[in-house]
Amino acid sequence: MNQEEDKKKEEIEELRKQLTFSFKNLWDPENEEEMQAIMDFNQDYKVALDRGKTEREFVDYAIELLEANGYRAYETDKPLAAGDRVYEAVHGKALVAAVIGTADPLDGFNLIGAHVDSPRLDLKPNPMYESDELTLLKTHYYGGIKKYQWAATPLALHGVVITRDGETISLSIGEEADDPVFTITDLLPHLGADQMKKTASQVIEGEELNVLAGSIPLPGGDDIKERFKLGVLKLLFDQYGFTERDLVTAEIEIVPATKARCVGFDRSMVGGYGQDDRVCAYTALKALIDADTPLKRTGLVILYDKEETGSGGITGARSQLFPSVQKRMVRSILGREPSAIELQDQIEKSTMLSSDVSNAFDPTFASVSDPKNNTYAGRGIAFFKYTGARGKGGTSDANAEYFNEVTRLLEANDVPWQTGELGKVDQGGGGTVAIYQSDLGMSVIDCGVPVLSMHSCFEITSKIDVYKTYEAYKVFLEKMRS
Ligand code: MN
Ligand code: MN
Repeated sequence: MNQEEDKKKEEIEELRKQLTFSFKNLWDPENEEEMQAIMDFNQDYKVALDRGKTEREFVDYAIELLEANGYRAYETDKPLAAGDRVYEAVHGKALVAAVIGTADPLDGFNLIGAHVDSPRLDLKPNPMYESDELTLLKTHYYGGIKKYQWAATPLALHGVVITRDGETISLSIGEEADDPVFTITDLLPHLGADQMKKTASQVIEGEELNVLAGSIPLPGGDDIKERFKLGVLKLLFDQYGFTERDLVTAEIEIVPATKARCVGFDRSMVGGYGQDDRVCAYTALKALIDADTPLKRTGLVILYDKEETGSGGITGARSQLFPSVQKRMVRSILGREPSAIELQDQIEKSTMLSSDVSNAFDPTFASVSDPKNNTYAGRGIAFFKYTGARGKGGTSDANAEYFNEVTRLLEANDVPWQTGELGKVDQGGGGTVAIYQSDLGMSVIDCGVPVLSMHSCFEITSKIDVYKTYEAYKVFLEKMRS
């Protein structure tokens, strides 16, 4: 090769660098210090996953973490000052945590919103029955699941039972090594000829999601009506003090009994139940706790419930309760009653990250994705300008200006990011809470951690994405419009 050819090649490479753009894998085994920080962070994250298997438990865990870091319960009628760290629990299933900034609250807050509910099985109002000498519990699934994934696997029972006397009993059975677990039976392959001809959505049907709960009858002989069910009810009454009537009003959730684990020879991934969307909840919470203070703009982290069923309900993102907390905080900081238009302006000047997981590209199921427009495990926090389905139906579709502002902020602070879509066009789709904040008039964009096997009993995230998402949230809280 002569010198001229070499020069030409160099110029083309220079041009390519200048003009083209792509996202890169972020693992850097040579950076030992960061490797350690990533592994340590994820160790704590796994604990959070194990502690918070339901929305209620995650909120309890979050409050514990916040209080240990100097946060106190927000009192509506008390003033708030710069540097104050407060939280407000929302009916035990959602949470707003805040660090008060030094700036005029009317200039807007920086918010991160994630959800802490995950797909699961809920007990029906009348769950318990006996059949053929077994005691079982009827369930109704919550959120989008592949029902067959829930059979023939150990399950735990979590929730609250409120007794006739108004006493609340918290249940968590199946997590400790010597706890019993529960399960949903599947058919043996020997007799599965008809079952195996069914489509996957019918292999295990909704009314077949029956949880095996016992098989020792009440002593006294087989004249006793429903003696198997009575045997379990007696045990529950003796052990916990509640009756079948109390089960009617209870909220009991059946979740995988497995603990979060490191995945892979190199332990580079976290496997566990409920990472959608507790991975974003945890990283956001940690970012708020660790953010360098004083913050200029007040930072808010909102943990919503009910995302998996459409964000309805008093604890879901559609509830007016959440902007109401924000408005009350503005009043507490201002020390006077803001006008309606001031409050609306405040919402419009606020900036938000709608923090939810995305689908990591899965080489085993590559055909559902556009590889150029999918997010990948190992490339950091994933931004989604829009979500939705069938021609972007049901999306908030962030403005170019806002998308650019947020990503420029990250780049200026050396935080990598990536972007993609949820699968190929018309392959399916999904939604998040972003649309509900944009309904209020707030600038918002979706972002979060890519997940493999999303909505399964064992979801997978890359540890470096978890860590880099935390870094991104920290930068956003510290520096967005500050
Ligand atoms: Mn989600
Ligand atoms: Mn989900």
